Amino acid sequence: MTTMMITNFVPADIDATSWENLQPYYQTLLDRKFKCEGCLEQFLLDRSELDAAAAEAGSNLYIAMTCDTENEEVKNAFLSFVENVEPELKKVGFELNKKVVSSEHVGKLDKERYTVLLRDWFADVEIFREENVPLQTEDTKLGQEYSELCGAMMVDFDGEKRTMPQMGMYQQDQDRSVREASWRAVAERRLEDRSAMDAIFDKMVVNRHQTAINAGFEEYRGYMFAVKHRFDYTPEDCLAFHEAIENECMPIVRKLAEERKQALGLDTLRPWDLAVDPHGHAALKPFDSADDLIEKTSKLFHRMDESLGEMFDSMRDGGYSLDLASRKGKAPGGYQASRDRQRKPFIFMNAAGLPRDLDTMVHEAGHAFHYMLCRHDDLVWLRGAPLEFAEVASMSMESLCYPFLDEFYSPEEIKRAIRKHLEGIVSVLPWVATIDAFQHWIYLNPEHTCEERTAQWLELGERFGGGVDWSGLESEHEAVWHRQLHPFEVPFYYVEYGIAQLGALQMWLKYRENPTAAIKDYKNGLSLGASRTLPELFEACGLKFDFTTSMVSTLMKTVAEELDKHA
Ligand SMILES: [Zn+2]
Repeated sequence: MTTMMITNFVPADIDATSWENLQPYYQTLLDRKFKCEGCLEQFLLDRSELDAAAAEAGSNLYIAMTCDTENEEVKNAFLSFVENVEPELKKVGFELNKKVVSSEHVGKLDKERYTVLLRDWFADVEIFREENVPLQTEDTKLGQEYSELCGAMMVDFDGEKRTMPQMGMYQQDQDRSVREASWRAVAERRLEDRSAMDAIFDKMVVNRHQTAINAGFEEYRGYMFAVKHRFDYTPEDCLAFHEAIENECMPIVRKLAEERKQALGLDTLRPWDLAVDPHGHAALKPFDSADDLIEKTSKLFHRMDESLGEMFDSMRDGGYSLDLASRKGKAPGGYQASRDRQRKPFIFMNAAGLPRDLDTMVHEAGHAFHYMLCRHDDLVWLRGAPLEFAEVASMSMESLCYPFLDEFYSPEEIKRAIRKHLEGIVSVLPWVATIDAFQHWIYLNPEHTCEERTAQWLELGERFGGGVDWSGLESEHEAVWHRQLHPFEVPFYYVEYGIAQLGALQMWLKYRENPTAAIKDYKNGLSLGASRTLPELFEACGLKFDFTTSMVSTLMKTVAEELDKHA
């Protein structure tokens, strides 16, 4: 194993998968006295090294498990880490943060380097309340109940018992009656758990509101902004963002719905008409095998920028950094993980030759570029960035790759692929607004009844619904939000994707103006890691941290033009 050691505090060969091995080193840190700000800085370096070792152990176990879900030993090793090591890391991490922010020397640390880090740690310490610990445990348990309800959902369809994700593929079927029957089967199954889900959520709202009150906030929204370290934008900014989406995206969404309806030759667009290819095209097939994908993606990045191409190749050539092929026993989905001691990225996905796989490939490569560009930072907490910016790094690549899609497609196919991608952007923003606005309302009105909540959901459907006919499906419509796990399991986590998308679209506009300058700025911003505020990170990329109507309007105008060009 290679490590990039910056201190001798942690042995290179420590087995950081067990708490017994880590605990003595954390204890030394807890006991350490600071005589000056130099001691404090050394402490931060040593702690960073130790946190990196623990994080890499967790990453490696997670990677191993997702690459081979049928291996019990590997799975148990990961679960043991989650159960035995992670809670201890969380506890000791909080104690160490407290130790730093309460040190008399903290004010003497270099402002530019430490401001963002300390701002976050101060907040964590400030909002912590002992009495909230059991409430948070309760919240996690309720989240698990929700997750179990979802996991247990199966439907009998087409002669077999099928899971909800498996049912998704029928929505692509050209035969409308198949789409309708499968959609109804899923919706009916979900409705069986409707009251159980509402009951779980009712408990969550009471619990969460109390957590906020205990921590000295008036409502949960403000509390969560502090928990999520959202110091660079306010709840009011989010509400303005929802409005901007309503004004600027919805006309395009409605136009697209109208075009879809015409292309499908329908009088009304029903919920089961939204995923199928409206022109009856067969699915695109951008590549054959994982090797083919790697080869073509490498060429794509070399054409985009020589050094990005080299970074991509370094993942291909340098050790175990890519696991892309779909095979039996592999977990679903795709992700980028980092191994913080070796300071190496890793990309996981299930490449089956679909256009979606290509999107995932360039998206995750963007995350990997981000990691490689900021891994020089000796403090592990600064290698990375908040989601609002991290997703700019990845989503940008999805649009910047348009000029090089000839590596994968014919000119006619490129048109289809770009159109589909742009349609995805336009339709996801209203959904982000819906889910976010819904949660704002919920926690601003913590004493609402279940009926009032449903009414609010339908009202948001009016604002962000976009031309779908739900008549005769009223109950189904009312319960749509139950399938979105975020309000249940990770409250308020969602708007980040919308904010990042605005950054990614700006990056695309810049790239069309001047590719060389855009790539230079892209790298510049990414190399700062998490050491700056969000507006500063955006600015370093030559982007504006702005989600007002005027920004959304500019971006949507370009998207609409481009959609027309690729019609
Ligand atoms: Zn991502």
